[in-house]
Amino acid sequence: MRLFLLLFSLTLMQNLPAQQKAVAASPKTMPVLVIHGGAGTILKSQMTPEKEKAYKAALTEALQKGYDTLQKGGTALDAVETAVRILEDCPLFNAGKGAVFTHEGKNELDAAIMNGKTLAAGSVAGVTTIRNPVSAARAVMEKSNHVMMVGKGAEAFAAVQGLALVESAYFFTEERWKGLQKALEEEAQPSGVVDSAIRHTPSALRQPENRDNKYGTVGAVALDQYGNLAAATSTGGMTNKRFGRVGDAPIIGAGTYANNASCAVSCTGWGEYFIRLVVAKTISDLVEYKKMPLKNAADEVCMKQVPALGGDGGLIALDKKGNIAMPFNTAGMYRGYIKNGKLQISIYKE
Ligand code: ASP
Repeated sequence: MRLFLLLFSLTLMQNLPAQQKAVAASPKTMPVLVIHGGAGTILKSQMTPEKEKAYKAALTEALQKGYDTLQKGGTALDAVETAVRILEDCPLFNAGKGAVFTHEGKNELDAAIMNGKTLAAGSVAGVTTIRNPVSAARAVMEKSNHVMMVGKGAEAFAAVQGLALVESAYFFTEERWKGLQKALEEEAQPSGVVDSAIRHTPSALRQPENRDNKYGTVGAVALDQYGNLAAATSTGGMTNKRFGRVGDAPIIGAGTYANNASCAVSCTGWGEYFIRLVVAKTISDLVEYKKMPLKNAADEVCMKQVPALGGDGGLIALDKKGNIAMPFNTAGMYRGYIKNGKLQISIYKE
């Protein structure tokens, strides 16, 4: 009888798809999902109750739908893509619809995704017609031999992949348009920043005055039941950017990184500094090679190295044990997670 049962279950196992077999053979990891909706001068004194409610509702939806994906057996990659797509579709955040405007009054979007299990990665930069840039980044990772595609080429690739394309007017929001007008006015002042990318002191870049319009990037990091990590980030970049400026979000290792051997990281903030300090990969290296606890590694880079150079921003990080770090050196950062089935959302400093 026992032998019969054994043979019976072995036959069953043979008919299972590979992923389920792995699950049947090994105990499940408790899934975790962490998201951010950008760091910046987010002050309670400047927030209305309605606005706060709207932000919390959007973050809650992204967390719940992303976590649902994990609970149904989806991968960390599926979860970060799901969560980021929801935030891209929400006009409150500087990604997808609601992205900030360039100097010329356009929306140029950047996004990246990375698989911590295989170190596969994909990203797009400077795209203007792809409704969900994070899905285009995933297509670059999974359907091409490349890691990064930019501009018109990335858009042509997205069209071939059957991804949703939109008229550029789709991304328009009144608030971001006003943000650009304000930035242009400031720029016209004699003390204004002509272009932060080309007029700078040796180590610190010149700080644009429209800090509030700078951030609002979205990102997610996840741990799935198979024990794998993933990260994704999506952004419109910085208000009034020009000359094809690209930030840290789509640069693998700067704004986005995931490695099962260390952690998954998604950043938000003044991208130039995050690129120069290769923030996400540096945190991963501190965890992997220096054996630093995740929180210490994230703090070392975000709370020490970035401000020491003159930059600001924040990040979310997650390791294979489900440890979470969400440091930021700005007034606030939209952020939240679901861990052990419990949802937590915060905006300001605790
Ligand atoms: N990091 C983004 C960039 O520099 C901006 C942001 O986080 O809002 O493009």
